[in-house]
Amino acid sequence: MKKSFLILLTVIMSVLLCACFWDSSADDGSTIPPATDNPGTSDTAADSTDQSTGTADQIPNTNAPNSGTADQIPNTNAPDSGTADTVIPPETVTPDTMVTTPPAPQVLICIDPGHGGKDAGAVWDGRMEKDDSLNLALKVAEQIEALGHKVLLTRTDDSYPYFSERADLANNAGADLFISLHRNSFEGAKGVEIWVSSKADDSTVDFAETLLDALADVGISKNRGIKKGTVSSANEDYFVNKLTDMPSCIIELGFIQSDEDNRLYDTNMDAYAKAIAEVAISEALRMEDQAK
Ligand SMILES: [Zn+2]
Repeated sequence: MKKSFLILLTVIMSVLLCACFWDSSADDGSTIPPATDNPGTSDTAADSTDQSTGTADQIPNTNAPNSGTADQIPNTNAPDSGTADTVIPPETVTPDTMVTTPPAPQVLICIDPGHGGKDAGAVWDGRMEKDDSLNLALKVAEQIEALGHKVLLTRTDDSYPYFSERADLANNAGADLFISLHRNSFEGAKGVEIWVSSKADDSTVDFAETLLDALADVGISKNRGIKKGTVSSANEDYFVNKLTDMPSCIIELGFIQSDEDNRLYDTNMDAYAKAIAEVAISEALRMEDQAK
């Protein structure tokens, strides 16, 4: 009996020991493998986490440029405020300029190219007065406009307006001065003369004298002076001088039979045009001042 008890006890102990070893091996088997695999993946995970935090670090970096951009906004505002500074003075200056600078006076000059169309005027050796007068008139008109004033031409092509139409054009437009351009005609004669109305006042005579002096300064063969009325009568007037309301004159710019006058006319046409335009403007302004 005692031996049997010992054998039973030994069996029981063995079973219990086996049970203990079996449980512990089962625990080791379930925990160890994940522990050995995890370091690699966990490191990677840690790296990716670091990267994410690195990315997170970059966010402040990207924020930094943003804040830099934000810094730039004041910078862009600064030029704006600078621009505002530069804008304000002109605004304050402009009214002063407008107050102190009066509008530039502007005059209207009527230029009348003599003859035209069916009326050739004086003709000599194929040369026609109507062409000479138109060529010079167009240049005078250019000069007047270039000087910032207004001009009215009684014709701009080979047409023939009646004297009354030429005068009406100037009168209706309220021209300040009327200047008719012609070439003279007489064999053996030369020089330049200007005709004014028989009733021309001193101011109109002064205007004509200033004009003739300016042409003489450019270069003419002879100064034949200022004349009143007509060739046939000092008491009559050429139509354009008679019918126009404003100071007017007729320039006989050299004789068409004179080679010398024709050469001077062709050579000096631009200078003649400039002189006529400048005198017309200055004289019109002078008369305007005297009328005030
Ligand atoms: Zn003529």
